[in-house]
Amino acid sequence: FPGDLSGNTMQRQTPDILFCTVKPADFDKTELIDFNQKLSDGIGLGMLENDEGFLAAQNLPENVRTYATAYAGHQFGNWAGQLGDGRAIYAGEIINENHQTEIQWKGAGATPYSRHADGRAVLRSSIREYLMSEAMFHLRVPTTRALSLSKTGEDVIRDIQYSGNPQKEQGAVVVRTAESFLRFGHFELLSARHQTDLLKQLADYTIENFYQDINSENNPDKYIDWFQAICNRTLKMIIDWYRVGFVHGVMNTDNMSVLGLTIDYGPFSMMDGYNLEFTPNTTDLPGKRYAFGKQGQISHWNLAMLANAIFPLINDADALEKILDNYGKQFWTAHDEMLAKKFGFDEVLPEDERFFTEWQQLMQDLNLDYTLFFQNLEKPTSEIKTEDFSNSFYRSLNENELKRLSNFIEKYQERKLKNKITEKESLALMSKTNPKFILRNYLLFESIQDAENGDYELFFKLKEALQDPYENRFPEFNKKRHSKYDNQTGCSQL
Ligand code: AMP
Ligand code: MG
Ligand code: MG
Repeated sequence: FPGDLSGNTMQRQTPDILFCTVKPADFDKTELIDFNQKLSDGIGLGMLENDEGFLAAQNLPENVRTYATAYAGHQFGNWAGQLGDGRAIYAGEIINENHQTEIQWKGAGATPYSRHADGRAVLRSSIREYLMSEAMFHLRVPTTRALSLSKTGEDVIRDIQYSGNPQKEQGAVVVRTAESFLRFGHFELLSARHQTDLLKQLADYTIENFYQDINSENNPDKYIDWFQAICNRTLKMIIDWYRVGFVHGVMNTDNMSVLGLTIDYGPFSMMDGYNLEFTPNTTDLPGKRYAFGKQGQISHWNLAMLANAIFPLINDADALEKILDNYGKQFWTAHDEMLAKKFGFDEVLPEDERFFTEWQQLMQDLNLDYTLFFQNLEKPTSEIKTEDFSNSFYRSLNENELKRLSNFIEKYQERKLKNKITEKESLALMSKTNPKFILRNYLLFESIQDAENGDYELFFKLKEALQDPYENRFPEFNKKRHSKYDNQTGCSQL
């Protein structure tokens, strides 16, 4: 693809080119905090632990060509024009017999696409991405991954409270990996520039490398099949978000992976008390565009933007519209199937639609803890007791509300009698669907406070806990959010 090999990091629009070589910033006193050896082995990098320089983007061999890419996107529903990797720099890719993996530093310095920002990342947001992306991986949610966390030794200025009173924070770099970091926005940029040849070249590259199931020889419907496959992967990812209670917070099209991976961990949060309107993103509070309950609908809208972008390759609006129409229906079918598994049902019965609706209304009205609610159901049916659910209350419930809860539990017990699988099989299904460990925002918050003061004990304990999310190995973390954190959201200043 056309690129600029000058290594010039001056911030600018880059018409006609799709990448620039970029030199990472110089950091004097880097410090490796953690290295993910299992991931390194898995992608074929092996022992990099001793290469602290590389992990912090320092002292690179002369022949390593590092670069940043341009993309575009719709942000909060509006066309935002050219964006790009503002603080992500590619280190290239590792190619093995069976897979390829792209490697990026996040926070290693400004690029031509940094606009007015500094290209840096702080320890706070880097810990959030480092732990959360791995937590999602172990929850079996498609995601980019994290290979290492280093401090840069540099101070970075941020104003997280928007108080006009910026603070110094510690700078950090995360090395992250993915099969590919290609976003909807890469295609939107080429389309907006009417560079149809390049658009086709990028689509062909994506299909050949990451959508190998698609027949690309003599297939007149190749790009339609590809769009359908992107929809399928996106749908699976969003359903998994709903399964574990993840709220992304910034589902702009530049933050949507064309491979259906969870990408760009910013002001995300796991949801504690069930609330369809919950958003951790303080800049999104007025419209709540990216709230928990809207993620399905927003993914649909984002896919429509991608359909517009790749339209020049397809020229068949009916075919694209049909796929998009189906997405809405498939979403609810998949959502019901996911809920059925959470409840331990072997299939979705016609009457379950009403049951699920009633459940959702109950959760919304009573604001019960999403994760603990399902754990309380995960026992032999006769042993489920309303009293046990008090561990999932964020406020005291009145008599009426308690009655609603116990009525619902009775209904659940009756519904479970219709299962064709045994109780044991049903519990096994629930056990692998419902997490026992989720990386709650308050846990991240506490570990960040400690880490900022040089204490990484909680950080490492969380890293251990997140590797077995379906086992209750750390009961001390398997609790509702402490009330002192009730008003806390994610964070939007990164
Ligand atoms: P986000 O909302 O995090 O997806 O960011 C939107 C755009 O801003 C992306 O193109 C980012 O690369 C860029 N960006 C965010 N933070 C910074 C930063 N500290 N320095 C440079 N660019 C940034
Ligand atoms: Mg982004
Ligand atoms: Mg970001």
